[in-house]
Amino acid sequence: MRAAVFHDAKDIRVTDVPAPTEVGPGQVLVRPYWCGICGTDLHEYAVGPIVIPTTPHPLTGAAAPQILGHEFSAEVLEVGAGVTNVVAGQRVSMMPIIACGECYFCRRALGHLCVRMACVGLSHDWGGIAELAVVPASQVYALPDEVSDIQGALVEPTAVAAYGVDAAGVRPGDTVLITGAGPIGALASIYAASLGARVFVSEVNPVRRELARSLDVGEVLDPTQVDLTEVLHDATEGIGVDAVVECSGNERALQSAFAAVRSAGRVTQTGLHTRPASIDPMVIANREITYNGTWCYPLHDWPRIIDLIARRGLPVEKVVTAEIDAVDLVEKGFETLLSPTGNEVKVLVNAR
Ligand SMILES: [Zn+2]
Ligand SMILES: [Zn+2]
Repeated sequence: MRAAVFHDAKDIRVTDVPAPTEVGPGQVLVRPYWCGICGTDLHEYAVGPIVIPTTPHPLTGAAAPQILGHEFSAEVLEVGAGVTNVVAGQRVSMMPIIACGECYFCRRALGHLCVRMACVGLSHDWGGIAELAVVPASQVYALPDEVSDIQGALVEPTAVAAYGVDAAGVRPGDTVLITGAGPIGALASIYAASLGARVFVSEVNPVRRELARSLDVGEVLDPTQVDLTEVLHDATEGIGVDAVVECSGNERALQSAFAAVRSAGRVTQTGLHTRPASIDPMVIANREITYNGTWCYPLHDWPRIIDLIARRGLPVEKVVTAEIDAVDLVEKGFETLLSPTGNEVKVLVNAR
């Protein structure tokens, strides 16, 4: 079968690999429809292996070469013994994080912080940019007819975005600033607006600003052209926004978050910074700002996100800027997404 296989940094091969031959108890064999390329995948391609294990993973035994892809929708082809949550022929969305179930965090329902965490498409025998994959049945969730195959591939990044907004304590009527309109920032702005918040988005990249505007969820600002703090204070009677979800991983965006948030407001770090950033702890203290972080998502959040897309019509598919075939994965996927002049935001891949 065809699959996208990570061998090393800058060495991803779309090639023929042996297809799975066995579907064990509690597993399902699926045929992925669409799979998103995410920041983690880009990082692995650019400077990896980082998350992808080079020696057998303690939980799954997987090691590079690794089939990529962890944000995907799929069709169930076959179910293993004891599987009751899905049947063959059903469309599903994959929750890719594999938690040990036994560590301190797993026993406290914090499986996304599992000390032995693995992930389908990063540290598991199979991945979503492939014709077939065998995955734990308990981690696939049936998609209702209202949710498209494309939307099914976006449940994962939507769960990341929603967790960030939820962790910032956003409530209906709140004013919220989302810094960065990459896939997570864009999805966070859609989710925050669906909660009834008044949304502002700041983004320096014109293509991403345009995408954010097309979502029609709030006011989109260019922080290189306007004084963000001033605009947001003007919009809130001089007080500042109730919450900020920092989705850019950029130091200046983080600093603007503290300047824009009101006293006793919340700043949540959802974007990943690749180097230390300087912040002023005095501001956090004397304005009683709460600064917290989020990592991935609560592992049980899939049914809620799927339901939101189905019943509230969250237009998550609008963040997709390209749908490509697996043969173009490196050139039209990884290289374009990493290029400073590239205009893609979210790229979905089809390996069928
Ligand atoms: Zn990801
Ligand atoms: Zn664990």
